[in-house]
Amino acid sequence: MKLSHVLFALLMTPIAMAQSAAPVPAGPPTVAEAKAFLDHAEADLLALSNEASLAGWVQATYITDDTEALAAKANERLLTRTNEIVIAARRFKGLKLPPDMARKFMLLNLNGTPTDPKLVAELTQTSTALDGMYGKGKYCPPGKTGPEVNSENACLGIEQIDVLMAKSRDPKELQDLWEGWHRISPPMRDKYARLVELSNQGAREFGFKDTGDLWRSNYDMTPAEFSAELERTWTQLEPLYRELHAYVRFKLVQKYGAAAERPDGMIPAYLLGNMWAQEWGNIYDIVAPPQTSYKMYDLEAALKQQIGPVSELEAGKKMARYGEGFFTSLGFEPLPATFWERSQFIKPRDRDVVCHASAWDVDNDQDLRIKMCIKVDADNFTTVHHEEGHNFYQRAYRNQPFLFRGGANDGFHEAIGDSIALSITPDYLKKLKLIDEIPPAEADIPLQLRTALDKIAFLPFGLLIDKWRWQVFSGETKPADYNKAWWALREKYQGVAPPTPRDESNFDPGAKYHIPGNVPYARYFLARIYQFQFYKAMCDASGYKGPLNRCSFYGSKEAGAKLNAMLEAGQSKPWQQTLKAMTGTDHLDAGPMLEYFDPLYKWLKEQNAANKVSPGWQVK
Ligand SMILES: [Zn+2]
Repeated sequence: MKLSHVLFALLMTPIAMAQSAAPVPAGPPTVAEAKAFLDHAEADLLALSNEASLAGWVQATYITDDTEALAAKANERLLTRTNEIVIAARRFKGLKLPPDMARKFMLLNLNGTPTDPKLVAELTQTSTALDGMYGKGKYCPPGKTGPEVNSENACLGIEQIDVLMAKSRDPKELQDLWEGWHRISPPMRDKYARLVELSNQGAREFGFKDTGDLWRSNYDMTPAEFSAELERTWTQLEPLYRELHAYVRFKLVQKYGAAAERPDGMIPAYLLGNMWAQEWGNIYDIVAPPQTSYKMYDLEAALKQQIGPVSELEAGKKMARYGEGFFTSLGFEPLPATFWERSQFIKPRDRDVVCHASAWDVDNDQDLRIKMCIKVDADNFTTVHHEEGHNFYQRAYRNQPFLFRGGANDGFHEAIGDSIALSITPDYLKKLKLIDEIPPAEADIPLQLRTALDKIAFLPFGLLIDKWRWQVFSGETKPADYNKAWWALREKYQGVAPPTPRDESNFDPGAKYHIPGNVPYARYFLARIYQFQFYKAMCDASGYKGPLNRCSFYGSKEAGAKLNAMLEAGQSKPWQQTLKAMTGTDHLDAGPMLEYFDPLYKWLKEQNAANKVSPGWQVK
């Protein structure tokens, strides 16, 4: 039977020599045996996870072929051991267990790596290849000749294209960049189809219908309930999105004329300041309300002045101190000394690193770090609050058993720091002496509009990425229809259109990192909504009365105690219980988000009526 196969595999791998495999007793399984099994499994997984984190940290902060190989090896060991444990755990299926043990087995079983080592190798290679194709993706605009062909400026990576998409106001250039970047992905198509097959095979081995079914099983409800939960919340928010869409479309037509106007009412996807039209904050200057007498404060200038003429590294650390300061004001302990010694605060001069911001708990205990390339500006100010939100979460649940050291669900983890960042109000900035006076009420609309361009505009995109993938994994969308299904969703939910007709010689989903990277995406949609639920709960706890969008709970120990209780629980209970303790409701609820944006919603409706614009668009 399978178990002997596992033991054989254990003996054959170096890892088995390091770990002692518990002997399997004869006779029916008992609760005591299950407990010993879990203890052993958690100890193994903790050790292997720490090893993979160390290797991953070095790889991300010092990219070479060697560090990539070491990190891949450590990950493979972790995956292999996880598979062994999950298979061995089948012995306890049907055994009546205390709730915490039953939950651990349930979490362990959310696994979808194929068991055949040949397939694991193929899966890892396919993933790495897709990842590499995206990472190395470049658009080389025509007309670069002579010495430029081989120079660094002849071809553009996504980081450079991002900046151009954000700043350019030339529709021809924007369209060209959009089309150029979307040429990186057609070669991924066959590999992606194979990735889908392999990962589905793994999911099926562990009892799931397909990988989409596995991903949706991560939420203490059935996959069908989870899909319905997302759709229900989207229905709550869709009217607000449509008002924003109509207002932005009107402003774009004012700015660009015919280039922005379409008879079907959709917005050309390349005019929104972002390659995927997922967040629109970069075109704030185009859609900003007319200047009022109040001149908006300049946070970047204020930060630069307060930080002063220090080295780039010192400035990065000072930025990180602001994030820490928010949490200590709530009653949390300061970050450990190792955080300041081991984090990557700025881009090193002498080597390649991954600048994409992330937060780490390298030893699953107190070795917390951020990895960023901090610049002193308003976006980075928000980002340090976001990333350190992950760190404070990680430290708060470190006393849980290993399998419960995680967010209540993956949406929670992304939402914590953002719920703190929502407290970056003028009131908070004044307390930090970054601004001198609180802006008048009339400044609320520009501030809200700027926030909505990122947070509201993101919602349909956050939803459709996994809607597309669930269809792909289930086989409802075949490889021959990948692109058609992608655009059907983008048109329906986002109301954006490609610059030129697309067909199956394109593979437009592949031009978004999370598709070749195979990273689930529903968590980002969840986080956008949870963060307002958490924010409101902490505002209430702090005793704040007034419009929600002006609340900052900075300095409130009551808000901190409430937050800490949620963070400490980690993944030990179904998220519905953790959410209920925090907010009083046990479900995803768009209510607080709508309350927050209510002033803007009213204003958008007035603007659209005055401009004689009716929200909505037609889909083919
Ligand atoms: Zn994050």
